[in-house]
Amino acid sequence: MKKLSIKLKVTLWFTVLMSIIVIAALCILLVFGSKIVYEQVEVKLEDVVYDSFDEIKYRFGEIDIDDDLDFYNNGVYIAVYTEDEKLLYGRLPSDFDRSIPFSAGEIRTFNENSHTQYVFDVIHNAGKGHNVIVRGVLSASGSEDAFETIMYLAMIMLPIFIIVASTVGYLIARHAFKPVKQIADAAEAINSGNDLTKRIGLRDGNDEIHKLAKNFDLMFDRLETSFENEKRFTSDASHELRTPLTVIIGQCESVLESDNESEIRAALETVLSTSKEMASLVSSLLTLARADRGHLKLLKESFDLSETVEIVCDQAKEIADAKNIKIYTDIENNIFINGDHPMIIRMILNIIENAIKYGKDNGKIEISLYSEHNNALLTVKDDGIGIEKAHIEKVFERFFREDESRNKGSGLGLPLAKYIAEAHGGSISLESESGIGSTFFVRIPT
Ligand code: ADP
Repeated sequence: MKKLSIKLKVTLWFTVLMSIIVIAALCILLVFGSKIVYEQVEVKLEDVVYDSFDEIKYRFGEIDIDDDLDFYNNGVYIAVYTEDEKLLYGRLPSDFDRSIPFSAGEIRTFNENSHTQYVFDVIHNAGKGHNVIVRGVLSASGSEDAFETIMYLAMIMLPIFIIVASTVGYLIARHAFKPVKQIADAAEAINSGNDLTKRIGLRDGNDEIHKLAKNFDLMFDRLETSFENEKRFTSDASHELRTPLTVIIGQCESVLESDNESEIRAALETVLSTSKEMASLVSSLLTLARADRGHLKLLKESFDLSETVEIVCDQAKEIADAKNIKIYTDIENNIFINGDHPMIIRMILNIIENAIKYGKDNGKIEISLYSEHNNALLTVKDDGIGIEKAHIEKVFERFFREDESRNKGSGLGLPLAKYIAEAHGGSISLESESGIGSTFFVRIPT
């Protein structure tokens, strides 16, 4: 049973159940049907026998039987006997065994030539103490025989019915389980061929199986996207790490070959700054990888965002000085949020550092913080190189850089900032125009 397909199992159960129902129905029919037929026969026999009494009278010193008495009425034969069992008048079936003894008051059955005969004897007082015996005989060739024929036919039909029921059951099960087979085949193809582009693709339908197939397809979509992302992420990450490693190896080799102290120093400085860049890249990668796996836990606490933004701006001013960029701030006091403090600092710093990095020399950056509809709204506006319209959404994708040849960044700063904002229930958006500047908006619930 365990090895049978679900289609065959359903067919088998269906056939067994149908057979049980039909056999039970036949048994009930047999028991109750024969009882009803027998009762009808008895009633008919008794009625005809008792009706005949009106026509049998003792008159003028003898038993007188009226001409109206029909000796064959409604299938019942009537015969009238004297008290000492001598036939006076009447008819009996030709195959009736005339030696059957009399037994008054009860209906008896006898089998004659494979059909049943019902016999009913009654003693009738014809008048003035003169008794006669009236015998009624009914050959059950009518309803009872028809009933037996039906039962006989039913017995022959039963195996045919079971064969038809099981065939039809199998066809129905095959039709009903066709989509399930399609789901199983698709899952197997995906599993064995490692091909995540395959889909079940059931045609339109609204039943449970179609819903299941649709959900499987959605799941495969998500799996495919996530595998693709992971693949891209791994290859991008290794590509990003290879460049600084090549720089470090090159610098170390030149140090080993050089005796010149200032050359060695310059090389070591390059190694140090490249290593710092790598460390920051690895740290961003790690944070995003943890976030992807859902392992990144935010350590939330209530803190003063206004104060935090002030401090980050002060730090940024030192970096901005190198490009002679002025930072103007407009910060509303006492805006408190519940969040992961180091993460929020990292997010703000990423955005402000970008404004400096992609800002014009001698330019300006305007930073403001306001509370707005249960949110803290941080705006960072620069007058730098701006971002092309087509790239505005892309800057939040991992490793995206507008101009890879000139850009030394990792392409992870904004994806990380977006992740942090969203993990706090907030959002990040931007407006930008190429050559004019960019404005970043960060909303965090207060
Ligand atoms: P990166 O380390 O390269 O700065 P980010 O994820 O922070 O990585 O930014 C992705 C890309 O978006 C950058 O390479 C840059 O092309 C563009 N970008 C980000 N901020 C700005 C900005 N303020 N002005 C112009 N372009 C920007």
